[in-house]
Amino acid sequence: MAFVTRFAPSPTGPLHLGHAYSAMLAHDMAVAEGGKFLLRIEDIDRSRSKPEWEIQIYEDLQWLGIWWDEAPQRQSDRLVDYRKALDGLWLRGLIYPCRCTRRDIETALSAPQEGAEVPVGPDGIIYPGTCRSEMAFERSFPETYPRPNDANLRLDLGCIAANLVFEHRIDNAHGGGHWQTSYRETGIGPNGQSGLIAFSPEDMQTEVGDFVIARRDMGTSYHLSVVLDDAAQGMTHVVRGADLSEATRIHVFLQRLLGLPTPIYHHHRLIRDDHGKRLAKRDDARALSKYRAEGATPADIRRMVGL
Ligand code: GLU
Repeated sequence: MAFVTRFAPSPTGPLHLGHAYSAMLAHDMAVAEGGKFLLRIEDIDRSRSKPEWEIQIYEDLQWLGIWWDEAPQRQSDRLVDYRKALDGLWLRGLIYPCRCTRRDIETALSAPQEGAEVPVGPDGIIYPGTCRSEMAFERSFPETYPRPNDANLRLDLGCIAANLVFEHRIDNAHGGGHWQTSYRETGIGPNGQSGLIAFSPEDMQTEVGDFVIARRDMGTSYHLSVVLDDAAQGMTHVVRGADLSEATRIHVFLQRLLGLPTPIYHHHRLIRDDHGKRLAKRDDARALSKYRAEGATPADIRRMVGL
């Protein structure tokens, strides 16, 4: 079986031990399978991405002995592809503009029960759908209603769930079944499980909500870009940290919606600091370059992360 995997860092700070573990694990797996290891620079957040961090990524990886099999892909070079995918979803009436601020959303959610906890899913606060109904009429005629570029765009999960269930009932006229999608997890799934993980559009509605598929300031989102890029780079296996296990159903759902293949996912354990806290970009103390400057070898780094 072909094996293509990747490491997809954002050039917004120094790579630390957690990144080294992720990159080395994915690279080791590709070598063991006789497959390919690719590199993608996730730089859609233009305000935080810096060319000097990108250069540092190449240097750190080479120092670790990691080489990539094709020219690195940079997300900032793929904005046209993201736009085309959004145009397609827009013309299918599946996305809608939203101008709510975070405060608007919190107010809408807390209005019925003052002081109640705000529901949160893998993409943050579960959107209460304020802008969904306002746009219902225009969205029935998307071709006469140009896609605005001054608003966030959200996926209409209610509409999609209704359509998918409808399609499924037609397919199974006698079974009356329930539409589900699934993916294979070989590492740590959302509840720590591995194996086949299935979910329904209704689960998406209640547990994720209408998430932002394109941010007004980016013209895309992490979720949309990662899904389109993994497909464009022919990924068969996605190896990444367990902090993204929860977001994976968003990605698998988008793959289904966009007609893209679903890779196998392997979410790995996270590298933590001495207090058990996950390492963050700002945690410069664990930057690889710092260990290197202090005389550590790549073998020392392997030992430190338990590889
Ligand atoms: N760019 C993300 C990060 O640096 C990783 C995304 C992914 O592996 O899907 O955390």
